[in-house]
Amino acid sequence: MQNSERIIMAHGAGGAVMGTLIERFVLPYLGGFQTEVGLEALDDAAVVGEVVFKSDSHVVRPIFFPGGDIGRLAVAGTVNDLAVLGAEPVALGCGFVLEEGLDFSDFELVLESMKTSCDEAGVFVVTGDTKVVEKGALGGLVVNMSGIGKRSKALAHNLAVVRKCWRNFDARWVLDKNLRVGNKIILSGTIGDHGLAVLSAQEGLTFGSKIASDVKPLNHMIEQVLEVGGVVSMKDPTRGGLANALNEWSVKAKVGILVHEENIPIRNDVRIGCEMLGIDPLEVGNEGKIILGVEDEMTNDVLAVLKRTKEGKDAEIIGEVTDEFSLVAMKTVVGGRRILPMPVGDPVPRIC
Ligand code: MG
Repeated sequence: MQNSERIIMAHGAGGAVMGTLIERFVLPYLGGFQTEVGLEALDDAAVVGEVVFKSDSHVVRPIFFPGGDIGRLAVAGTVNDLAVLGAEPVALGCGFVLEEGLDFSDFELVLESMKTSCDEAGVFVVTGDTKVVEKGALGGLVVNMSGIGKRSKALAHNLAVVRKCWRNFDARWVLDKNLRVGNKIILSGTIGDHGLAVLSAQEGLTFGSKIASDVKPLNHMIEQVLEVGGVVSMKDPTRGGLANALNEWSVKAKVGILVHEENIPIRNDVRIGCEMLGIDPLEVGNEGKIILGVEDEMTNDVLAVLKRTKEGKDAEIIGEVTDEFSLVAMKTVVGGRRILPMPVGDPVPRIC
């Protein structure tokens, strides 16, 4: 942790600084509950009995950005965190903190977008809360969204296929720590779109073309993938981007990961925008993409089905799990190898 003994923006930016905050303060006080997947797992969601449970706060600034808004982000973020454990999202709880002075018309636009996103995902908001605070730094409103999910037929099928490839596999959910040597890593589409869209809205920048956020619920795409089977691990590379998600996997599963730079899909305008701004597209948050760790013999089948979905049409196999080393490394386009470290934090503030 930095020398600062107060909260700084980096403490909320994903990456190493936030990780230290959670380990130093949150886990010692709130950890310790014995459950299948609890707080200490630091996975995308928890498992309590047969229920998958997730809670997430959304503070994106501004609340409207190209391709999305805070309402869609809240629904998609929670739905996706449930779905990447293999759960079928069922119901959401929504806590609003509204800032004094927020226009009713803006609040309605957010609610309408939440409704559309809920319909898309097939979920409902069933509980919630509303608070108002004095005009200040919120930027209109913040949304806390929680959600629950349940086991599905698709998950059971997926796990059965994994067990055919890997006899000792005994996980009941698709968890970060499941990844094993020999798994292939698939990325479901282009990275950096959300980060650049939010940054352009924050700074009033344009990049010669319209970069829109990828924010969307991915549960239907994920269900189709689970119906193929062979997926051992999934994760949404949000704050801290692909680099953060891969490093979390490597640490939790105690494996090395080698990714191939030339196979990582990045839109040209996003690449140019990142170069202009001096930020790394691999460290920028995404809201409509997942990475998957897949049993080797099922990889091509999973990729083929992903590519047939509109959310996963740009999917690529970007790497593999290895025992050659125990960190994340990248084979660069010029043929060298470099370590891909855990980012300090996402370079874009208040990205989600
Ligand atoms: Mg997540």
